[in-house]
Amino acid sequence: MEWEIVMGLEVHVELATKSKIFCKCSTEFGGTPNTRCCPICTGMPGTLPILNRQVLEYAVRAGLALNCEITKYNKFDRKNYFYPDLPKAYQISQLYLPFAQNGYVDLKTDSGREVTIRIHEIHMEEDAGKLVHSMFGDTTYPDYNRCGVPLIEIVSEPDFRETEEVIAYLSKLKSQFEYLGISDCRMEEGSMRADVNLSVRPKGSTKFGIRTEMKNINSFKSIERAIAFESKRQIALLEAGESVVQETRRWDENKEKTFAMRSKENAQDYRYFPEPDIPPISITDEEIQHYIGICPEFADEKVKRFVSEFGLAQKDAEIIAASKYLAKLFEETVANSGDAAETRYWMISEVLYFMNAKNIRPEDITLSSDKFAEFVKIVKAGYINRKVGRQVFEAMFFGGETFDVNEYIKEHGLEQIDDRAQIEEAVQSILDANPQIVEQYKAGQTKLKAYFVGQSMKLLKGKANPLTVNEVLNEKLK
Ligand code: ADP
Ligand code: MG
Ligand code: ZN
Repeated sequence: MEWEIVMGLEVHVELATKSKIFCKCSTEFGGTPNTRCCPICTGMPGTLPILNRQVLEYAVRAGLALNCEITKYNKFDRKNYFYPDLPKAYQISQLYLPFAQNGYVDLKTDSGREVTIRIHEIHMEEDAGKLVHSMFGDTTYPDYNRCGVPLIEIVSEPDFRETEEVIAYLSKLKSQFEYLGISDCRMEEGSMRADVNLSVRPKGSTKFGIRTEMKNINSFKSIERAIAFESKRQIALLEAGESVVQETRRWDENKEKTFAMRSKENAQDYRYFPEPDIPPISITDEEIQHYIGICPEFADEKVKRFVSEFGLAQKDAEIIAASKYLAKLFEETVANSGDAAETRYWMISEVLYFMNAKNIRPEDITLSSDKFAEFVKIVKAGYINRKVGRQVFEAMFFGGETFDVNEYIKEHGLEQIDDRAQIEEAVQSILDANPQIVEQYKAGQTKLKAYFVGQSMKLLKGKANPLTVNEVLNEKLK
């Protein structure tokens, strides 16, 4: 039988506010354990939480970016459970009236398919602390620094059918939120965390199967593996006439398997009730209009502009525009150098290449647009050719702030040779040394010209103006 995978995602995103959601403690990552918390975020009796305005703003803007309806009258609810990383023994969240509902995200997958994923809702909530397990012995140390860090949880409809849709969705969320400046969405650091709900059903069936929820997945690679494993596990169960148990499963990266963690709890288990310490929130139409007005240009619009304005290939434009940082480097370099075509050339052939080869995140690129633009101008002026340019670019890309393009070129004697007499002399000596090949060329094997270009260039240490070399060769081989 052919099976279809059905998935729905619950994604937690940490909002990049300076202070926590209900107190003034810092949200900064790390720090000495239990130094960034106070009686409010650790839930001491008698304290009162106050909603951070910035959290509400970031949340609403996230909702609008995912095409949601904003719930103008929304409120917080108390979700009760005990766990050692939660000193309050409850989490302030939103159950009955989440601030955003009924959205959607349009995606394009790696293989080029266009898919729409519906968003059921987004709610605001506070993060819990962290448990640090000792490597020696059986000790666990609670660190409450993360308690009260603001989160939004984005709950999708069960609209995913393929792994590449899940990856495209998470990439899109990251891109949108990066452009809004509301989160850096780093899965490896936990500022974006995805739980994958997965069921399988016979292809063609309209009824959903019983699902499991996988937690603890912290990279695209793991998501791919976890989906592959879990779907196979469920299919094998069903084909053997057994049934899937609805439960929460943990993905173990090392064992490459999922393990049952707990049977799935439902809302009743948490004894939700309206949070009595925080008044309901009302969001006005004016506020919503204001946030719509300050929306930045997102990746989709940028792609269109990069293609039409700068002549980028669709795929290249998609890669650059997906990242706010790459797009900024590209656009500023074009603006500073006045040369879109040359900038595009170096962006695609070198910047993207080094990022892939060395696994560099866009936000960690140290090359400034000023330097990049200076380089573009130097190449364009014919001061160095593109071949030598690659060497210079590499040195510049990894050279940091103090790198000086002009100095480097002088120091290494890389200036382009444009002296016609010198080039003619070199070309002539190559032709003289290869009379047989010259003959073959003249007999019609014109492809051999590349050989002469290569040899002449080599003789001139790669620094000759390739156009002049070509010209001279054309004349001499007539
Ligand atoms: P709960 O509140 O119990 O976690 P929800 O109804 O909120 O359950 O759904 C959680 C997530 O599971 C959502 O993203 C939803 O799309 C997804 N989901 C629900 N049913 C299924 C199913 N049968 N197969 C796969 N995913 C599902
Ligand atoms: Mg849930
Ligand atoms: Zn605090």
